[in-house]
Amino acid sequence: MNKKAQISKKIIYNLVGSIIDEIIQIRRKIHSNPEIMFKEHETASLIRNYLGKLNLQILKPYIETDTVGIIAGAGKDPGANTGANAATGKTILLRADIDALRIEEKTSLEWTSRNKGYAHLCGHDGHTAILLGAVNVLSQLTEYFCGNVKFVFQPAEEGGGGGKILVEKGILDDLPRVDEVYGLHAWPGVKKGCFESCKGTLMSAVDDFSIEIKGKSGHAAMPNLAVDPIVTAAYVITALQTIVSRNSDPIESVVVSITSLQGGTLTNVIPDSVIMKGTLRYFKKEKQEFFRNRIEEVVKGICNANNADYLFNFEPLYIPLVNNPDSVDFLGKVIKNLFGDGFWSNSAVPTTGAEDFAFFLDKRPGAFYRVGLGLDHPSLHNSLFDFDDTILENAILSMCGIALNALGCDISE
Ligand SMILES: [Zn+2]
Ligand SMILES: [Zn+2]
Repeated sequence: MNKKAQISKKIIYNLVGSIIDEIIQIRRKIHSNPEIMFKEHETASLIRNYLGKLNLQILKPYIETDTVGIIAGAGKDPGANTGANAATGKTILLRADIDALRIEEKTSLEWTSRNKGYAHLCGHDGHTAILLGAVNVLSQLTEYFCGNVKFVFQPAEEGGGGGKILVEKGILDDLPRVDEVYGLHAWPGVKKGCFESCKGTLMSAVDDFSIEIKGKSGHAAMPNLAVDPIVTAAYVITALQTIVSRNSDPIESVVVSITSLQGGTLTNVIPDSVIMKGTLRYFKKEKQEFFRNRIEEVVKGICNANNADYLFNFEPLYIPLVNNPDSVDFLGKVIKNLFGDGFWSNSAVPTTGAEDFAFFLDKRPGAFYRVGLGLDHPSLHNSLFDFDDTILENAILSMCGIALNALGCDISE
């Protein structure tokens, strides 16, 4: 049997070091030109231009602004001479999201958003730059690994479910078929340049819903002749709070929030209807039906008691993001080997934020992990948020480490 491939840390560090200035410039360029879900055309062409110089196989886009490509390993497979179990190498997927948000940026940086009303306040500019860097470095190291790296620059993470669409369209099953999936998110509140994740659920599910309470309009001075949807809506909002406090396990986190309320315009008229919108978050996929039904039961009961009618619309969005425990162990080993024990924690606290990488992890083993932006960094989606370029290097190294280790190459001192 052939020996496993070995590469020294120094080679990888040097390669990352040689491209880091260029990657920082690219990150800032993407930051200055934020594009929102499904409209990431200039971002996609910047990505494709960069990859074009690396001579890699790029697949036909699945949804216009995605870019998916392959780095084929050229290394000798250590398993190839073992007869019946001869392996040809795995395919692992590395993913970055590329879209921005519809929020006004308030930084005064040189590379601040020049698209009014849009901004990269979730660090996806950084994620894109990290994956470009990792792809560049890995494309120079193909002799060290066998199998494939399938890399994906994914549109529409912020609400559009681009990840869900790519998975439904076959990104994991199309050849080369993907065996494992990895993605990262830059994270305020984690030590700068350090990494964390956790086994099992890291991020929650999110579903949206809307409720129209239908009453009967009338003169405000004669409420007895009307059916008041505003009073009914007030009861509904209050009663919905009991789903978290009375119906769900106190050990499990659940959020039910009404975030929009519209009805009536005048002081002397009871309106016909009130429309409210809300969001639901929870950590167990199988609980969706329970919460959906519970919300509707509460609305129905209160409307009945008040002679009102209702329309209920439930929109499932993202499922919980669940990490494979073995993949998290693997990730921990990769990070500790590259940077030292202090750079890794597998006790990341799950968040009620959602992430559509969940749809990749629903179909394949793998892990989603966080790279620290520092303890005092502005929070994600804050108008003063900017990605910290000093963590790019570690993040690129982490992705290279995952790919090399997963594809049969050991990294030595
Ligand atoms: Zn975000
Ligand atoms: Zn994000």
